[in-house]
Amino acid sequence: MLAAEQAQLLADVDAFCEALRPHEELCYLEHRFNDQLIPLALKHNVLGLPVPKQYGGRGADAVTYARALARLGREGTGVRTFFSGHTSIGQYPIIRYGNDEQKQRYLPASVRGEKILAFGLTEPDAGSNPLEMTSTYRREGDEYVLNGVKYLISNGAICQAVIVLAYPEDKSGDDRRMSAFIVDTAGHTFEVEDLPAKLGMPTANTGMFQMNDHRIPATNLLGAEGNGFRIAMHTLISGRLSVAAGCLGVIEDILTEVLNYAKERSQHGKLIGKHQLVQEHIARIEIDRATSDAMVERAAIAKEASDNAHGDAELLAKADLAVAEAKYVASNAAWDAADRGVQVFGGRGWSSLYRVGRHLQDVRVCRIYEGTDEIIQLKIALALLGKEFAAFK
Ligand SMILES: Cc1cc2nc3c(=O)[nH]c(=O)nc-3n(C[C@H](O)[C@H](O)[C@H](O)COP(=O)(O)OP(=O)(O)OC[C@H]3O[C@@H](n4cnc5c(N)ncnc54)[C@H](O)[C@@H]3O)c2cc1C
Repeated sequence: MLAAEQAQLLADVDAFCEALRPHEELCYLEHRFNDQLIPLALKHNVLGLPVPKQYGGRGADAVTYARALARLGREGTGVRTFFSGHTSIGQYPIIRYGNDEQKQRYLPASVRGEKILAFGLTEPDAGSNPLEMTSTYRREGDEYVLNGVKYLISNGAICQAVIVLAYPEDKSGDDRRMSAFIVDTAGHTFEVEDLPAKLGMPTANTGMFQMNDHRIPATNLLGAEGNGFRIAMHTLISGRLSVAAGCLGVIEDILTEVLNYAKERSQHGKLIGKHQLVQEHIARIEIDRATSDAMVERAAIAKEASDNAHGDAELLAKADLAVAEAKYVASNAAWDAADRGVQVFGGRGWSSLYRVGRHLQDVRVCRIYEGTDEIIQLKIALALLGKEFAAFK
């Protein structure tokens, strides 16, 4: 991406964030979905940041997109999660594995906001181990027929199309390999339900859906039949990087808030920023920020190298590891920064009226989705020890 294009893209993301903020604050306090997000994202042309230009997107490389996600993350984990669902794990598998006809059908419409996307891997009984999923498909003429329930899906109750992973109905044992499908959500055979009982992210949608003999055209098989697990794992690399970058943004916003507050709030006859123990919190938040910044940039560079070298297993493994490390570090650093931010704000910090308190409520999920802390650590150890040490098995 040219430097001028990158600067314009980041300026557009910034303008979008500024326009969004008052709506986001109000929706957060009213505990409702931010219905201005999609219209404003459309206005500022940020609904397809890494989508190739030929399909209507901005053509951002992984590093530029990660910086954009960090900026989005400052507005809150809910805001960034919308983009992760729509773009990092929604558009991305279509960009990477879709054929030209699928890309023409879905990518421009998704950039125009006509098709909001999501990614459906998790099920009620299959989270950390997606191989335990039970959703199925069968082929009938020119259609696939899908059945199953997908649970805890970002944008799950607002999307017009979702990437779904499912097993063939009639296979078992080693022959049973999952496939990926682009599934349009319209119709009575696709039932959605909002999941509002969350600890945070009230302005973002988290949903579940059930497919009851849901029919899709056979042309909506994504990638080769049986290649679904591989597609899902590659998609999660993109999703994890988006979480890491978003967490960096969260820390940046907390730091800004804490510095301002420490310079205006006085106790014991002086500004609280002059108390050494408050300074310790500030220093630790800055260390969280600097560490996450370096890890996210390193991971984005590794992902960019892998994206540019399709089929290079070594670069893919490097990107996978660097992204997992960045996700672990940044999500834990953001949790630490949010905790310290709340502490510096005192009683006001423990309130959703202030940004630090909202970040604390929202960012905790980053240590859970796209691979829990535990699974990410097992994955990192596996990369170092070798496959025969896989603790998942
Ligand atoms: C807000 C939100 C949005 C989400 N968005 C999406 C989405 O868009 N698409 C999607 O497909 N999914 C999504 N998820 C699902 C998310 O990825 C899962 O919640 C996550 O992978 C964990 O799965 P689980 O909740 O079933 O927990 P479980 O897998 O049941 O894990 C429970 C606990 O056991 C631990 N554990 C499990 N296995 C092991 C092991 N082998 N060794 C050590 N510890 C282990 C876990 O780390 C965890 O602490 C979302 C979740 C949330 C909360």
